[in-house]
Amino acid sequence: MSRFTKELRVIPEAAWIFAWFAYLCITVWLFFFVAPKDPEMAKLPRWGQALLIYGFMLLEVTWVVLIGYIYGDAKRRQMRYVMWTLLAIFVPHAIGMILYFILRDPLPKTCPSCGHVEKAKFPFCPRCGTLLQPTCPKCDKPLEPTWANCAHCGQQLPGPAPRATQNPSVAT
Ligand SMILES: [Zn+2]
Ligand SMILES: [Zn+2]
Repeated sequence: MSRFTKELRVIPEAAWIFAWFAYLCITVWLFFFVAPKDPEMAKLPRWGQALLIYGFMLLEVTWVVLIGYIYGDAKRRQMRYVMWTLLAIFVPHAIGMILYFILRDPLPKTCPSCGHVEKAKFPFCPRCGTLLQPTCPKCDKPLEPTWANCAHCGQQLPGPAPRATQNPSVAT
């Protein structure tokens, strides 16, 4: 849940405000002005119309908030966020959104030594030269911090090996 609430904070406040404001306008308009004149809707009781309109239009809120998320998330990932937001809005059948979630870059890394935020694909911090992504001493390919052996060439790694033998229940 904490990860979910953390992700929610990526959505700009303006997206929430716009989503609920539009929701209010559309539902009031549909319920008070469209539904009473519509022959199909008139067959339903008034509470049934309300349920249908107010329930269905929650999709509109979800849609706007999702676009807000893509905007905030693409910005955080140092991607072309304007382009991705427009694709999410204008490509039909949510294809722009689906493409975004398939193609989005990994989260940028913060340099532990100078605090500079840089795209994850670079092994060194461009500001201070600190090594951000350790590489294998034998094959030079990027390593994951949990590896005891290089997954590319099998080279045994000195760093994380002692940690791997520790009892996980003791190491909190
Ligand atoms: Zn740095
Ligand atoms: Zn290797």
